[in-house]
Formats: sequence, C-alpha cells, structure tokens
Amino acid sequence: MLRTRGYKYELKVNNKERTLLAKYAGISRFAWNWGLAARKSRYQTQTGAARYTDAIKQHKELNRLKHTDFPWMYEVSKCVPQEALRDLDRGYQNFFTNHQHRKRKQTTRYVGLPRFKKKGKCKDSFRLTGVVHLFPEIKQVQLPRLGKLRINEKPNLAVSARILSATVSRTADRWYVALTVKEEQPDCNPNDGPIIALDKGLSVFAALSSGIPIARPKFLLRQARKQRRLAKAHSRKENGSNNKRKSVLRLAQFYRRIANQRHDFLHQTSTYLAKNHSVIVTEDLHVKGLMQNKKLSKYWADLSHGTFQRFLKYKAPLYGSTVIEINRWFPSSKLCSNCLYYRRDLTLADRIFHCPLCGLVLDRDQNAALNVANYYTIYQFLLFSVAESSAETLNACGEVVRPASEQARVVESGRTAPRTVGDDYL
Ligand SMILES: [Zn+2]
Repeated sequence: MLRTRGYKYELKVNNKERTLLAKYAGISRFAWNWGLAARKSRYQTQTGAARYTDAIKQHKELNRLKHTDFPWMYEVSKCVPQEALRDLDRGYQNFFTNHQHRKRKQTTRYVGLPRFKKKGKCKDSFRLTGVVHLFPEIKQVQLPRLGKLRINEKPNLAVSARILSATVSRTADRWYVALTVKEEQPDCNPNDGPIIALDKGLSVFAALSSGIPIARPKFLLRQARKQRRLAKAHSRKENGSNNKRKSVLRLAQFYRRIANQRHDFLHQTSTYLAKNHSVIVTEDLHVKGLMQNKKLSKYWADLSHGTFQRFLKYKAPLYGSTVIEINRWFPSSKLCSNCLYYRRDLTLADRIFHCPLCGLVLDRDQNAALNVANYYTIYQFLLFSVAESSAETLNACGEVVRPASEQARVVESGRTAPRTVGDDYL
C-alpha cells in the first residue's frame, strides 16, 4: 500500500543562501497578498460568476504582469508564486465548504477567509514542486532553481520513495526543508504485545493500566522565569530598532528549543507505546474544550495531548498495533475499577479513589486507566457476542437495542479491527 509521509531536515545554510531563501519566502508572501487583493477587488467590482476566480487563472494573470510590473519575480522559481496562489485557492475553498456545512448545521466550527500576510509576523515559507533530488551520501538536497543545499543529517528515505514536493520554512534563525514523499508501506505482522490503556491527565502525563505512570514533563513551565525575563526585555526595546530585532530572535530561539524538547518527548513516548503493545486504548480527549479553562490552559498546552494522540494514531499501523479511542463522556475517573460502583461525589481534589462498596483504595489516575482497559474488554465481548447472535439484539419487550458500549471507536489499524461504530459525539 502506498502512503504519503513527510520528512523534515534542517538546512545548513551560509549567509548567501540565507538571503536567497528569505527572498523566495518574500516572493511567496507577495504572491499570496497580490492574489488575495485581486480576489477581494474582483468580488467587489464584478457581478455573477465573474466575482470568483481560481489558482490557474490567477497564475496566468500574474505571469502576464511579471514582464512589466514585477520583473524581479524572475529571480526565483516559477513554482513559488504558483504554489502560494494554490494555497490561497485552498483557503477560499475551505471557507466556502465550511460555509455550506454550517448552513446545513453539520458543523459549528468556523473557518474564516484567508488574510493578508505581514512580513515579520507570518511564517517565512515557500513550496517547490518539480525535480527534487536527495543525495544521502553527501548530505545534500537539490531544489529547483536553488540548486544543491546542505542538510544537517543523513536522510533515511527508501530508494523507491518518490518526492512530490519540498516546503522550505524558517523557525527563528534556522531553515528547514520538509519533503512530501509517496512511499510503499511495508507489511508488518500484527503486534503480539499486551493491551494497554491510558488515562491522560494533568498530574501525570498518562496513567497506564500496567501500573507505571508516565511522569508529567514541564517544558515551558520549568523555564517560566526565563520566558518572563526575555518577554519583558523584548517589550522594553524601541520598536523598529536593531535591539528589538535581536530580542525577537532570542525569544523565538527560546520557544523553538522548548518545542523541540516537547516533540522529542512525544515522539519517544508514542513510539514506545506503539512498538510494544497490540492494542492501545485511550480516551478521545476534548483538548479544545480543556483549553478554555483559563487557569489550566497553560498546563494542558505544555503537555500537547492532541499532538501525542496524532503521533500515536499514525505510528500504530507502522508497528502492527491498533489505537482505540473511547468516548470522552465515559466516566473513567468516577467508576470503581473493581466492582463498577459509580461515585457521583468524587471531586478533582480526591487524588485517591475509595470505593465504599468493595473497599478498593487506589490512585485516582491508576483507577481511571484500569476502567479504560475494562471498557475495552467489555466492548470486545459485547461486540463479538452480538455479532455471533444476530446483527441486532432484542430487549425483553422485543424492541431492537444496540449495546451502549458501541460508542467505542476504532481509529486506525494495521490489521482487521472491529467495525467503526457510533460517532454520535464527534
Ligand atoms: Zn468497588
């Protein structure tokens, strides 16, 4: 099976190349802004279908103007403005699609119109299509018009992989190239490791049903004093001065370092879980909702549970394991993992779970993780018993009922997995 994957490498650039890359990014930004302004004025001055345009028409128009108005655009590859206009078109399409969906009440999410990009405020990046070559032995990448650029590490791409495009971007003072690659996904055997359940939280990063919790790392919080010092120093510099420019860079470098540390942790943890377990059961956490709590949002943001889930989902098929997301409304904390007694009065302050019925005394997060594991076991049992008897089950009154636990959702699988059911809460 063919799959699309991204590979990102840091570029090792000298001052000359740095200037050149900044020029490419500048022209990409210019093309975006030009396209957006043209679309806006067209919408206001024209009528009917003439109010709208697309990326191909805009690129032709820009090419006509290049000769007379923007001759400096010839200094960069023609892909740069073309891809910027394509991105703009996609932005508009997303806006229209979302508008239709909201009208039909299919979503409450709002996607706005594309906005103008400002130098220094937006991310410097551009995309190149066409012939992109990698030279692993000499650690170089060849890009259209730009030629060969050095990369920081030896790329580990399969020989048969086909490079579709290269996106070059800047974070603080470093430049990166991200290659979009179409490659063959090797068949892997089903993972024969144990089943594991996770209860993600704030006091520990995740409590595992195996008993050993993953401790909560503090990436940004640990360096809060430094962040405050840098931000204060930055705000005191005069706007437009050289010192302001330098303090922007210092702050950006600080955040890049934190982001790198966080990514490293998330990658190592998700790989460990995917590699050593056949089934990983997790809760489908509503991160966006949790972030709305102003007092706790910085703690949630520092853990990046959303990114972790995304990593887990794409890594599981690579190691032959399965990720199962159970419904976010499942009261994993309030149930007793031993006798299923429901403790309605449990508050966030109760760190130890006491069961009045069976006398169980267990750490709150550990109890929740065991409940998530139990949920999966019961779900599997019900799913198979229902499948064996008939498509539907009947209750005592003869009415068709569906098992409540059908809300569990199979996300991705490297092998045959239970059918996806009940996406009511999505
Ligand atoms: Zn109990």
